[in-house]
Amino acid sequence: MPRSAESAATLRAIRWFTITHGITMGGFVILMAIFLGAVHGTQSGKADTLLEHPLQVAVVGLTVAMLMILLLLGRHARRRLSAELERDRLFTLSPDPLCVLGRDGALIRGNPAFEQFFAPERGAANIIERAHPDDQQQVAQAIASVARPGQVATSFEARFMPATDRGSGGDAWRWLEWSVRRDPQSQTMLYAIARDTTSRRRAEAALAAETAFRQAMEDSLLTGMRAFDLTGRITYVNRAFCDMVGQTQSELVGAVPPFSYWPAGDDALQMAQLDRLLKGATPRNGFEVKLQRRNGSVIDAKMYVSPLIDRDGRHTGWMTSVTDITEPLRIRAALAAAHERFTTVLEELDAAVSVVAQPQPDASPEVSLNDVGELLFANRMYRQLFGITPTGHQVLLRSVKDSGGAETFHTAMGRWFELRARDIRWVDGRLVQMLVATDITARREADEQLHRQELKLQHNSRLVTMGEMASSLAHELNQPLTAISNYCMGLSARIRGMTAKGHSADPELLLDALRKTSAQAERAGEVIRRIRNFVKRSEPERRICSAKDIAAEAVGLVQIEAARQRVRIQTEIGRELPPLHADPILLQQVLINLLKNSIEAMRDLAPGNQRVVTLRVSEVGTAIEFSVSDRGPGIREDLQGRLFEPFFTTKTEGMGIGLNICRSIVESHQGQLWAERPDEGGSRFRFTVPVAEPVRLTQAA
Ligand code: ADP
Repeated sequence: MPRSAESAATLRAIRWFTITHGITMGGFVILMAIFLGAVHGTQSGKADTLLEHPLQVAVVGLTVAMLMILLLLGRHARRRLSAELERDRLFTLSPDPLCVLGRDGALIRGNPAFEQFFAPERGAANIIERAHPDDQQQVAQAIASVARPGQVATSFEARFMPATDRGSGGDAWRWLEWSVRRDPQSQTMLYAIARDTTSRRRAEAALAAETAFRQAMEDSLLTGMRAFDLTGRITYVNRAFCDMVGQTQSELVGAVPPFSYWPAGDDALQMAQLDRLLKGATPRNGFEVKLQRRNGSVIDAKMYVSPLIDRDGRHTGWMTSVTDITEPLRIRAALAAAHERFTTVLEELDAAVSVVAQPQPDASPEVSLNDVGELLFANRMYRQLFGITPTGHQVLLRSVKDSGGAETFHTAMGRWFELRARDIRWVDGRLVQMLVATDITARREADEQLHRQELKLQHNSRLVTMGEMASSLAHELNQPLTAISNYCMGLSARIRGMTAKGHSADPELLLDALRKTSAQAERAGEVIRRIRNFVKRSEPERRICSAKDIAAEAVGLVQIEAARQRVRIQTEIGRELPPLHADPILLQQVLINLLKNSIEAMRDLAPGNQRVVTLRVSEVGTAIEFSVSDRGPGIREDLQGRLFEPFFTTKTEGMGIGLNICRSIVESHQGQLWAERPDEGGSRFRFTVPVAEPVRLTQAA
């Protein structure tokens, strides 16, 4: 039976007991009075006053007193019972679980809310065992602590599983906040009341998570945040701001101007800035400020300001966000400096540099015909030469395309340019064309001057060679001329003799003499033709020519000198040599120089030595190789490296330019010239000239 029903029955029993005892006692008193009256009446036979019957009075008085006591007792019992009933009702109706526990946590009694939550198996439930495994120790300790003398109450919070959710596990655990009190009278019983705090706990956890999230978000910010109240006192700073100025939150919050992070000597300016800020007069797109760190270094920062409005719409202060822009500013300055250096270099370049975006291919034909593109960049030289239009760029490009080389002559300007064009990716991602045009007019002129001088030198060298060979040539010419003269004199003597004898001249004889005369004249003419050909001033002219002819001509010219020096020229010329694409006169000049040097080298040879110069012409790979060797003293090893230097000579009347000119002639024919010291003694000079390419041959044909 529930406790409240029990109490109501008890109350009814007490009432019944009081009434029945009252009636019984009343009846007993009346009966006693009747009995005492009857006894007294029989003894005296007459009625007396009450004072004359003290015993009866005492009995009646005691009876009344007893009745009174009984009445009071009944009322007291009723009041107590009603209080208990009240407590029971509270116990029963309380929505919070209430229970009476033993000192070991064993359940003695629980109210309906408790029973609904825990559904305890009677006599088997223990509050400690019903707690979450992680909380059981804490619950046991709390209950044990109340049982200790000197402590009567405790409270704790732990997780319990509602009976309805038992077995579902997981999130069904609910937080109960327990208040436990020891019954001061029984000492063995504990009164415990639980309040479900799960929602509060969850709200707290959600709040903590939210706070942690906000804190993490705030801490992760690189932007410094700082709030002022309306008077300019700092009311809030975030970690980034603290890091920025190197101070702690407690040092900054509550601070009033002038602030410790204002750069020294900058207070007036900073104060004016703060005044503007507090008046809300700062620019919306931010402004730059300087902040001083604790270590004295000054940083540049960008600051944005927004008003702080509270829930009631009142303006309570200002929130500022501060970004450290020292590094971006430094990078910007470095970039600007680099850009300036770059532009200075570009501007001061001797070359004209231009960047042009080509006309879009999808543009209409009329537009693309007239459109010369957009000039994106032009340095000083370009602007000076071509102005600020892309026309110069395009003209140069066109001329280089036409000429097919990197060097081009700008006819309108009368200047030579060396061009380098490249497609580059422009800053906006477009593919554009960069052109670097270097004015090489001066270099071209110098080259041409040098070329002219070289030609002159070659010509002079040929004249010198001929001058040197003049006596031999005179001798060579003298021979046919003497022969002609002799033939002519012999012929006239013979005609005179015949005429004197009256005979007519024999025509056969005359013709034979005339043929011989003519042959000698031809021989003289040939020598003169060779000399003329050799020394005539002409521009180098390459043509298809034969190595064999070149060799024969050169030998023909040197032969006279060789004969004079009693030197034999031996030629070994390969058969069916491929043709050369070369200037034959220049190659002759090289051969004559080499042959002459060899003849000269053998001039002082002791008699008995072989005085032979060998000229070999052969095909080696894709070139014709000419080789001139002699049996002279040879080249001194220490001088070999200097032979081709201009003006190097070991001869008293030598000029030392022969070999130098020879080498430049050979190299201008893409060949090579070098000297050797053969094992058999003497010296050998060899040079190669590439054979004519088939294309050129066809062209020539
Ligand atoms: P030059 O004949 O006026 O001295 P070269 O340039 O023709 O000028 O020759 C340079 C030098 O090379 C000569 O002075 C000589 O010492 C050396 N030389 C050239 N050819 C020969 C050779 N066949 N044998 C030895 N020395 C030579």
